[in-house]
Amino acid sequence: MTQVREFLSKADIAARVTELGAEIRRAAGADTPVHLVGVLKGAFVFLADVMREIGGDVSCDFIAVSSYVGTQSTGQVQILKDLGHSIEGRYVVIVEDIVDTGLTLAYLQGVLRTRAPKSLTTACLLSKPSRRKVNVPVEHIGFTIEDRFVVGYGLDVNERYRNLPFIGLVQGGD
Ligand code: 5GP
Repeated sequence: MTQVREFLSKADIAARVTELGAEIRRAAGADTPVHLVGVLKGAFVFLADVMREIGGDVSCDFIAVSSYVGTQSTGQVQILKDLGHSIEGRYVVIVEDIVDTGLTLAYLQGVLRTRAPKSLTTACLLSKPSRRKVNVPVEHIGFTIEDRFVVGYGLDVNERYRNLPFIGLVQGGD
């Protein structure tokens, strides 16, 4: 039986997401429209919450990439669904669930930079610095964690557990 042990509680996450929203607004400036680019699927829960904590003019779009099968990083990134709107001249913040090796983000930042946004920064709820293979800038980090595979709050394993309100560690197997 697979079990999930709580690692970051719903309250821990909510408190940090509120801080991150304020941090993103502060960095942008009060009057700047902020355009969030959520990385599907894992970031959709985090994006929905952080978007409501930024305040002011905020819009969002989504991009879907594939980089993982199971729990192993292949390092191969593919755009499965592209943005619906141009980001040229906009203040763009990439919203990602977790930065692990950094390969996904490095690729995405490269692609989005060629589309000439006025500003391009990144917010990640979680970061595993010990796993980094490329040095990728992440301006807003929710929690720095050790090399553990986490699920919940949008993060899955084989499409399961995205609905957990907390972030947990998977124990055992099916
Ligand atoms: P990276 O390219 O930085 O190695 O990986 C980024 C992606 O890998 C994340 O967007 C996420 O989908 C997946 N990933 C990395 N670590 C974890 C983890 O601990 N749990 C889950 N569920 N996905 C992870």
